[in-house]
Amino acid sequence: MTHLFRALPSMDVCLSTLEQTLPDMAAVPRPLVRELITAFLDALREDIRAGRVDDADHLALDSLLPALKEHVARGVRPGLRRVLNATGVVIHTNMGRSVLAEEAREAVNAACSGYCNLELDLTTGGRGSRYSLVEGLLCRLTGAEAALVVNNNAAAVLLVLDTLCKGGEVIVSRGQLVEIGGSFRIPEIMEKSGAVLREVGATNRTHLKDYAEAVTPQTTALLRVHTSNYRIVGFHKDVPLRELAALAAQHGVPVIEDLGSGSLLDLADSGLPGEPTVQSVVREGADVVTFSGDKVLGGPQAGIILGRRNAVDRIRSNPLNRALRTDKLTMAALEATLRLYLEPELARRRVPTLRMITATPESLAARARKLASRLRRGLGGAARVELRPDVSRVGGGAFPERDLPTTLVRVVPSDISATELKQRLLSMNPPLLGRLEEQAFCLDVRTLADAEFASAASAVAQALRV
Ligand SMILES: *Cc1c(COP(=O)(O)O)cnc(C)c1O
Repeated sequence: MTHLFRALPSMDVCLSTLEQTLPDMAAVPRPLVRELITAFLDALREDIRAGRVDDADHLALDSLLPALKEHVARGVRPGLRRVLNATGVVIHTNMGRSVLAEEAREAVNAACSGYCNLELDLTTGGRGSRYSLVEGLLCRLTGAEAALVVNNNAAAVLLVLDTLCKGGEVIVSRGQLVEIGGSFRIPEIMEKSGAVLREVGATNRTHLKDYAEAVTPQTTALLRVHTSNYRIVGFHKDVPLRELAALAAQHGVPVIEDLGSGSLLDLADSGLPGEPTVQSVVREGADVVTFSGDKVLGGPQAGIILGRRNAVDRIRSNPLNRALRTDKLTMAALEATLRLYLEPELARRRVPTLRMITATPESLAARARKLASRLRRGLGGAARVELRPDVSRVGGGAFPERDLPTTLVRVVPSDISATELKQRLLSMNPPLLGRLEEQAFCLDVRTLADAEFASAASAVAQALRV
C-alpha cells in the first residue's frame, strides 16, 4: 500500500501542471485551487485504503490529470453563472428575469470601469442627484410629473405606503390582496409600512360604492394592485381607474396603482391584449404608480415610482428612501434601456425581453427547425429529436394565463429517462434548463438566443455522452 501512496503526485506538481494546462488560472485564488487538489488527493488515498485502487499506474499524474482538471474547473466556477434558458418563460425570476439590451450592458460597463457622475452635476461641478438621471426620461415616456427609482418594486410599494399612508387606512379590493411570490404579500407589506388595510368588496367583484362606503377621515389612499400572477375569469368586476380616481379626488386622497410588470408599450398587436400601459394609468388619474424595472420593461432590477410631483417629492424625501436606493450599475442599465423606448420600434428590436415576448410563431418555428437539425447532427442514435407546436409564457407575473404560440424541440433520449437528462444538463457548463415532459426534454427557442444554439446542442450531446 505504501508504494501506492508514494505514487500519488505531490501538491506542487498538481498545482504547476494545472497552471499550465487549465485556461484562465492566473486570476483564480491559489488557496481555492489548493483546497480542491487536497480534496482530490484525499479521495484517492481513501480509495487506496479501501482497496479500490491497486495499480500504481492509475495514480500517475498523466492518468489522473483529466479527472483532476475537471474537479478543479468545476470547483473554481463562480456561484453566479450564465445559464441557458430553454424553458420559454421569458421573465424567469429564478434565472435573473430580464436579459439586458446590448446598450444597457455597454452603459453598465462604462459606468463601472472608471468613475462616473452618479451624484455630480457636470454643469456646476457640485453635488448632483442620482435621481435626476432618469427622471426626465421616465416623465417623457409616461406623461408623469415626477419620478423616482428604488431597489425593486417591493421596495417601491413599501416606500410609497410608508410615506403616504402610515398610520392611516388604505382601501384595497379583496380581489387584489395578492401574494406575488417570494412572500411579497400586500397585507404584510401594508403592516410593515404602518398603514391599516381596509378590505372592500368580494374576491371576484368590487363596486365603486364598496370603496365609497369605506372612505372615512382616516383614509389615506385607495390602492389598486395589479393581479399579476393570476387572472379572475367569469363573474368578475373591478372598478375602472377613472371612476376610482374621481372618488379619490372628491375625498382628497391619492390613488396608488401597483402595476407590477408595467409595460410602456401596448402589446395587444403581439397577441397580448388587456394589460394597461404605464402611460394609460397615469392618464386615467393614478396619483402614484409603481412597477418593476426587470419585468416586461426588460431592464435591470429596479422599482419605478412615478406620478404627481407633490406625492413623488414627499416619497423622495422619506429617510427610508436612502435605504432603498439604487446603485450606479442599475442607473446606467435603466437609463440605456429607457432611452430605447423613445422610439418604440427600436425598443421592440433591441430589448431582449420585448423581442422574445413579441417573436412571431413563424420565426420561432424556423429557429426551432434550425436547433433541431443541429441537435440531430450531434446526437446520432442517442436520442430522437422532433418538433411540436406548443405555447410559452411571459412569466414574472405578467400576462398570466396568456399563451404565446411557439414550437418546441423535443429530445427523447434512447438510453436514459428524460428526467435523468434534465438532471445531467444542470451540471453542464453552462447549465441548460428546459421543460420536462414524460418522455422528452423540451427546448423552447423563444428564450434561447441563436448565439446560444451551439452551446445548447453541445450540452445535450455531452449529457447523452455522445
Ligand atoms: C412583481 C410584483 C411586485 C414585486 O416587484 P419586484 O420588482 O419583484 O420587487 C409587486 N407587485 C406586483 C403586482 C408585482 O407583479
